[in-house]
Amino acid sequence: MDPRTLFKLSYGIYVVSSKLGDLLNGQIANTVFQVTSEPQTIAVCINKQNLTHEFIEKSKVFAVSILGKSAPMPLMGRFGFKSGRELNKFEETRFRPGQTGAPIVLENSIGFVEAEVVGSLSVGTHTIFVGKVVNAEPLADEEPMTYAYYHEVKRGKSPKTAPTYIKEEPGKQVEGKAADTKREQSMEKTMQKYKCTVCEYVYDPAKGDPDSGVKPGTPFEKLPADWVCPVCGADKSAFEKVS
Ligand code: FE
Repeated sequence: MDPRTLFKLSYGIYVVSSKLGDLLNGQIANTVFQVTSEPQTIAVCINKQNLTHEFIEKSKVFAVSILGKSAPMPLMGRFGFKSGRELNKFEETRFRPGQTGAPIVLENSIGFVEAEVVGSLSVGTHTIFVGKVVNAEPLADEEPMTYAYYHEVKRGKSPKTAPTYIKEEPGKQVEGKAADTKREQSMEKTMQKYKCTVCEYVYDPAKGDPDSGVKPGTPFEKLPADWVCPVCGADKSAFEKVS
């Protein structure tokens, strides 16, 4: 069996959010899908360890903010690699409460769907929550971010708690394609890549970090001292050379 085959399944990238009393939380999820049209029903798959899971289980409501292709890595990092137990993710995020009370992300969202939980299925590490759609609105006319785009173009990684996480084997390209151009390959010889030990994001000098204003061709050593991992927010000291 080749688990990489599963990368051929396609997904979007969403912020699934919920509330508990006055508390709000949300997380990146790629497993969101419509299951029926009459009535309109959607399902989300959430890791049991996550705070959002606890909130959905108790409040029985959730919102799905659909991220557009322009969503920057810091937004993905805030919602994908940090826990709501350690920070209030919505304190630094533009949002509005939905009619269920679950927060709707207004940064880089192209639309949202709100639902009330009508059923759930425990699947080992995760729960699939099924929700009746109670509200849905488009927010922008941009193409949705896809899971493939996030990995291939944005060079994003999946946290270990993602349902689709597959451990990378050293020296093996699990994302399938490293379609770097010849120019980039020659630059790689002279410019060392560095990997974040927290989230496995790889800083590639040939690509820079455009979301944080770092131009392509910037060596790791020349990054500003206050530069942080665009995915998880770890500082430069968390990075090690890629051998
Ligand atoms: Fe990181």
